[in-house]
Amino acid sequence: MSGADTTCAYCREVLTGNVLQDAWGTRVHSHHHIPMCYSCGKWIIGDVFSTEDGRMICKDCLSSIVMKSSQKKWVDTRVRNVLILHGINNLPLKIQVQIVPSQIIKRKNPLKESSTAIQLGLTCCDELILNNNRVCRHSVFMLTHQTKIQFAGTLAHEYLHVWQNQMNIKLSQDMSEGFCNMGTFYMFQSIDNIVAKNYIQRMMSDQDPNYGIGFRKVKEIADSLHTDNLKLVMNKLLTI
Ligand SMILES: [Zn+2]
Ligand SMILES: [Zn+2]
Ligand SMILES: [Zn+2]
Repeated sequence: MSGADTTCAYCREVLTGNVLQDAWGTRVHSHHHIPMCYSCGKWIIGDVFSTEDGRMICKDCLSSIVMKSSQKKWVDTRVRNVLILHGINNLPLKIQVQIVPSQIIKRKNPLKESSTAIQLGLTCCDELILNNNRVCRHSVFMLTHQTKIQFAGTLAHEYLHVWQNQMNIKLSQDMSEGFCNMGTFYMFQSIDNIVAKNYIQRMMSDQDPNYGIGFRKVKEIADSLHTDNLKLVMNKLLTI
């Protein structure tokens, strides 16, 4: 047996009594109060970075945060490519994406029910009628301090809100959020590393009525149609 299995990752003493394990298999004594990284789910042993909205982030995740516009552009291209692979080939070319702190997201979305979950993104659509045509101006607000993988998952979700707004599609909240999370799911599936797999696991066990249960309802519909084309999934959702 390796030492890692029998000693605490924090104090290096032998593991006895109650033991806690993170999603990565790292084990510690339950009496230590060790923060868990909001992004990757690892115990943070060492320096902790805390965001103003209370997320604790490990050093590894902090080094892959999306901040600069060049990083944003890089992720944007990948997200658009994944959505095209899944049938969304008419996403507006111009979508304003801003990286903002949580107060801005809360202020823009005051109607959001008092969920304690941190909101990673928000999409707004201003509708105008110009020469009898409906014109949408889309803005996406992304929460600060998201790693590349997390940012990609959130952006895929928000872009599917943009697409629904653009197509003037109105669904119930659980179906709408569930549909958007299909984008997140396909994004993580295409990244396919241990962090992305961990995010998929979290989505599969999320008990939120919209983001968890709603997502799995939409995924079941996609599975029953044997398709990964989101336009076909939407056609079906519109008949329910
Ligand atoms: Zn210990
Ligand atoms: Zn981390
Ligand atoms: Zn959403």
